[in-house]
Amino acid sequence: MISRRDARPFSTGVTMSHFNVLDEKTGRTICYAIDLMREHDEMLLRGFLPVTDQHLWGLRYYDLTAGAVAFQNFHMGPAGPVEVRASFTEIQIRPPLVPHHVTGLFGYWHINEQEEIIIPAMLPNNRAVVILIEGLPSAGRHDVFAWYCRRCHSLLHERKVDIGRVGIPGFWKAEQDAVTEFNGDERLRNCRQCGAAHPLAYTYFECHDTPEMAEARKLW
Ligand SMILES: [Zn+2]
Repeated sequence: MISRRDARPFSTGVTMSHFNVLDEKTGRTICYAIDLMREHDEMLLRGFLPVTDQHLWGLRYYDLTAGAVAFQNFHMGPAGPVEVRASFTEIQIRPPLVPHHVTGLFGYWHINEQEEIIIPAMLPNNRAVVILIEGLPSAGRHDVFAWYCRRCHSLLHERKVDIGRVGIPGFWKAEQDAVTEFNGDERLRNCRQCGAAHPLAYTYFECHDTPEMAEARKLW
């Protein structure tokens, strides 16, 4: 016999809707389960949280009532940005070191030295969730926030964060600092090769947007 019992097996520091599946004979946990439909704070779950002692995850919920059939992201290739549209039934595995950007979600190109696994799940009521899973940042891992000219694709600016040392809180602080730095210096936003001006950057969290950043979020 097995049973379910509400529990908080992971020390995420937030209220997560976990339960344990228990072997009733021994009382041992057979697995941890997380119910994506139970109450949660979507903005909080978007920020990356430890989900085991080895992995981080971030969740993004989609309302499909407007007819969305795919989620999109852009990967930077040698000849410029490549749009990758994945249906809500496709799992993506993003190799390390591929710069990626999602319009409206984060206003920079993120470069990760580890791979990222992107798993969508359909939910009732015309909703879907996309789950991004990656390893807990290990010692020596660096992430980069980068901007490329939108006309000639040359690198405009980049900022590296030693995520293995500063962890996720340090990552978000570096993200904010990098966005502030890029937005605060017109010379960084104007291409030295072709002269094109780059729109403002914005962070992963809409609550940090100035009115100008909110406009940029719609743009790129
Ligand atoms: Zn340029």
